[in-house]
Amino acid sequence: FLTGKTALITGSTSGIGLGYAKILAQNGANVMMNGFGDRDEINAHIDELKKLGAPMAIYSDADMTKPDEIRAMVARCDTEMGSADIVINNAGIQHVSPIDEFPDDKWDAVIAIILSSAFHVIKACLPAMKAKGWGRIINTGSMHSLVASPYKSAYNSAKHGLAGLTKTVALEVAQQGITVNNICPGYVWTPLVEGQIPDTMKARGLSREEVINDVLLANQPQKQFVQVEQLASLMLYLCRDEASAITGTNLSVDGGWTAQ
Ligand code: NAD
Repeated sequence: FLTGKTALITGSTSGIGLGYAKILAQNGANVMMNGFGDRDEINAHIDELKKLGAPMAIYSDADMTKPDEIRAMVARCDTEMGSADIVINNAGIQHVSPIDEFPDDKWDAVIAIILSSAFHVIKACLPAMKAKGWGRIINTGSMHSLVASPYKSAYNSAKHGLAGLTKTVALEVAQQGITVNNICPGYVWTPLVEGQIPDTMKARGLSREEVINDVLLANQPQKQFVQVEQLASLMLYLCRDEASAITGTNLSVDGGWTAQ
């Protein structure tokens, strides 16, 4: 149902973003991938997206900390595949540290990649969406858009900021056929989660198993990781015309985390 539409997904070389790229391709959208990683692996992902059904699939290595590169990525998408109808702000990193030891450069990087990049992407993509009178902006928030956990000051601040940005843009474009939503996952089993286990082991003096059961899933009542496919099907639903009244929301997919 997305034939003729173009999707741009930041941070889509792995994890949730890659899952989003695949389901959008399966439904006929052109896909612009973005993120870091091994070039051969990325080329293989591009080939897979085309096999899955994307008429066109291209990759941008734009660094989400660099506004000029973000604008160039959006411009290249316009030129090579048509302006983005579906924009997914998904790139993210984590850094775990008590705030009084939190490195300044890590704070800046987390805020830039999660929050400021969404601002720059939305700013660059909105004029074309307004001209078409249709658009879907989907941000990847987190349960940490809604509640906090200790030692994640930059991440929690950036994800809460994304919730505010979502609401603001939703109001600004409410009468123009464009919806803006923030999907808020609990813990999803991806490389980002895997990567924070050693830091959390160090910060709290715990074993790997203790970090998984007693820290990561401690507050996730279902005691199971969210699956990428579960997020992807919600994201796809938001792209449907039936979802046109859903805007400005934080949609929790967190196994009950924020019910507590
Ligand atoms: P991931 O590490 O698998 O993917 C992150 C993506 O962002 C990768 O493609 C990476 O290359 C890209 N990226 C990182 N820095 C970048 C930069 N400077 N410029 C461009 N791209 C960059 O992690 P994931 O778990 O799939 O995370 C995706 C999103 O989901 C993030 O925003 C994350 O905060 C959010 N999230 C994840 C979980 C979870 O449990 N995994 C839970 C809630 C929210």
